Order: sequence, then C-alpha cells, then structure tokens
Amino acid sequence: MQEFLTFNQLKLFSQEKIVHLQTLRFRATCRYLLPNVPFYKKLFAEYNVDPNILRNVEDWQKNGLPLIKKAAYMKNPKDFVVQPGKDVFKEYVSLLSSQHEFDELIKLLFSDKEKELKQYYSPKMLVFSGGTESGNPTPVMLTAKQKFDTLVGVLEVIGKLLFTHTEKKTVGMNLFPYAPHLGWHATHMALDINTDLNLGTAAGGAMPTERLVMLADKTKPNVICGMSDYLRNRFLPLAVQKKIKLSEKVVFVNGAQKMHDAERVKIKQLAKKLGVKQCTVLDMYGASELKEALMPECVEGSGFHHVAPLSTIVRTVEAKHTTKDLIDDWQFSYSGYAVSWNIDGAGTLLQGYFLGDKYDKIETNKCDYCRLNVQRFFGVNRIREVETQLNLTGIVEEKVKGTRVNLVAYRGAALSLDEIKEAQVVLKKNKVEVRIVSDKPKKAIAKLEKKFASAEIKPIIKCVSMDDLKNDKLKFKPIVIG
Ligand SMILES: [Zn+2]
Repeated sequence: MQEFLTFNQLKLFSQEKIVHLQTLRFRATCRYLLPNVPFYKKLFAEYNVDPNILRNVEDWQKNGLPLIKKAAYMKNPKDFVVQPGKDVFKEYVSLLSSQHEFDELIKLLFSDKEKELKQYYSPKMLVFSGGTESGNPTPVMLTAKQKFDTLVGVLEVIGKLLFTHTEKKTVGMNLFPYAPHLGWHATHMALDINTDLNLGTAAGGAMPTERLVMLADKTKPNVICGMSDYLRNRFLPLAVQKKIKLSEKVVFVNGAQKMHDAERVKIKQLAKKLGVKQCTVLDMYGASELKEALMPECVEGSGFHHVAPLSTIVRTVEAKHTTKDLIDDWQFSYSGYAVSWNIDGAGTLLQGYFLGDKYDKIETNKCDYCRLNVQRFFGVNRIREVETQLNLTGIVEEKVKGTRVNLVAYRGAALSLDEIKEAQVVLKKNKVEVRIVSDKPKKAIAKLEKKFASAEIKPIIKCVSMDDLKNDKLKFKPIVIG
C-alpha cells in the first residue's frame, strides 16, 4: 500500500486529489483500525457513534465527537495503540480493499503473510518529542512499516527540498542531542538517506562541542542540523573562537524548538565569520504525535510544508469549551489550534488530537518556490508545555494587570538586538521579566529599555548567564509561566 506520496506526486497531484486520498484513508482508519484501539472503542460507545458513518474529519465534529487533549493521552498511551483482533488477516484484507488497494491484495496472497502482518501491526520504535526539558515528553509507537517504509519515503522528499541549497556533494552533521527523541533519529535517518557522507554525530554531551568543531574543520559539512540555541550559543561561537573554516555554501536546519527570524540572522552572522558565503537557515516543524509528518521549509520563511499528507490530516480549530481531558465544544476555523488525525496505519493512532500548537495561517495553493501542492503552515507557536499549565486560557497573549501582552513578541524583540545572545520571558505574579544573556550587559539593557519604552507593560530586564537559563538541562524553556 502506498503510505506516502513521492516528490513528483506531490507536484503533480492536485490538492483535491490529495484530500480525496486522505479521506479514503480516514474512512478505512475509522472502520478497520479504530475499533481495535481501546480508547476509541470506548469513546465511540460513550458518544453513541458508529465509526462506519464517519466519512471525513468534518463528520467528527458533526457527530459531536470531542477533541482529545494530551492529558487524556498521557494517562495511558498504550490505550491508543492498535491491538488487532483475532482475525488479523481478514481485518488487513478489509483495510486494503476499502482503499481500493487491489494490487497490494494480490501481492499479499503470494507473500509471507505473517511477516507482512507483523510489519504492518507490531510497534517497532518508540519516539518522543517535546518536553525533554520538563521531563514530560510525549511517546508514540511507530510500526516497522512506518519506520522503514513511510518515514524513509517522507525523508526522501524532505532531502529533495533541503538539498537544493547545497553543493552537489553533501556532507551531513547532526548536532541534535542524542536521545530517544524524534529530533536526533529523524535527522540521522534523513542524513543517511540523502547525503553523500553522514558524519553520524550527536551533541548534548554525547560528543563534546570542541570535538564536533574540530571534526567540522576537517570534514567540511554543508548540511548542519541542530537546535537553534545550541548552534548560536555553543557550536558556532566555539568554531569562531577556534578559527575553523566551513564550506562556502552551507544549509543549517533548526528543529525541536521555535526559531525567530532574529535567530536566523545570528546564525548567518556567525557562519559568515567561518567563511560561509551562501548561508541558508531553514526551520523544521514536527511532533511525535504527527508521526512521520515532519514539515520542512523549502526556502527561508516559506511556511512549514506538510509533505506527508497520507500520514496525518492536520486542521485548525477554535476551542469553545474544554474539560481537563477533552475539548467538548469546538469548530473548524481557518487558523487557530492544530488538531491531527493519524491515517498512517497501525501503531499509535491519535484521532481528533488537540496538539496545542497554534497556527496563524494555512496556505493550500501550489508553493511558488518548490511547486509542491501541499498545505503550508505559517506563524507556528510551539507552546504545548505552556498550554498544559494554563489549560487553554490566555496562553501566549497573557493578561498582566488587565492588559494583554504577547510574551513571544517580548522574546523576539530581545533577540533582535545584536548584543543579546539568548532571551527568556518569565511571567510571575503579574510581572513580566525578560532574562537576557549578553557579553555587553549594560549596552544591551539600555537598548532593550528603549525598545520597551512605549510598551504598556514594561518588563523587568535581568542579565543572566547561559547556565542560569538552562539549569543543567539540554535546552531551556523560552517562555516560563508561574
Ligand atoms: Zn515550497
């Protein structure tokens, strides 16, 4: 069964055709997989909904089904994994035929059926995302088929997009911290598949930054992936200090945390000091709950491209009423909170899952740059952890003394100053504190005070060290509430 679309298909297929394929998979998922997922079996019974009548995601809302919050998922992630019934072969045949996968059915008859079914249904790999800093990451299960087939197909598409910005011969360097985390693993696989040489590195203590810098000097990587704060505050400054040289054309890829435009500029400024003349800094968006649906930019600021539409349906909603575990009153909207429906087969299946991230805008027309017919998400705020604390009220725009303030914008303003290396915004007892890391603290504070002079709520500005921000963790929380 074709579980992903290739680069050419994403170019040739219309949005309507892609939505049609998603709908077919959504129906098959509801009919033949969800009744074998304990959480949904119970949910359908409680809401008195027959999963056979669900034709598209709109029907989820029309039939009064709720959205599932992380709190409900984290109570028992096992209850969200497909547990095939006794006649797993018959179930698989129904699943294939409902999607008109007749070639696949014939192939199945002549194959090692036990192996095929194991590949399709048995969880193979546990991936985590988010919460690495708070000790509360979200785990999901990928099956062997999803890991070796779907994810590889999606990463090939991503490679085609990213590597238009490099020389022909590519050397990849992975600077994500080594952990059972989607960031490191997806990057490692992507570099394995797409680059001529994958250095197989990892940061975050697995390899000291000094050794990584020396290796970069010798091997000249031109695809460098890692978290923006590590690149800006550790790797690149040390590389400048050691006076190493990189290639003239390098692409940096940020992941696992939001990157402000000011951070892109800082990475470019540092890369220039290493001899990089053509520097591209791209951002990547993903979440374990979106499974194989990793979303890259094709050029800087192009929006995150949903290049895996057959893995997960992503839409935005307006939430009207919420309980601790569920959002029981909601409607679709053009922008707002992201909600996902996994349609990628077995393993963990999250349907109507309230991701918590917020999108400002979604575009569905053909991308002007790469010509792919995929959804693109703009203005993505990754505020899941903050969200959980606040339980859907206020969030980024938080009320301070009766005035709404945008905490993300405070951080962006601080980072846009050359003197400021890193910034954290803390909201505590009706006060906003901006903590900054700077080599020129006096100048930085003076400039920042000027910037905030006309702000209704003036933040308290404090200069701290990078270690103070991180508290011995691999990365820090950009926004802290409480
Ligand atoms: Zn594009």
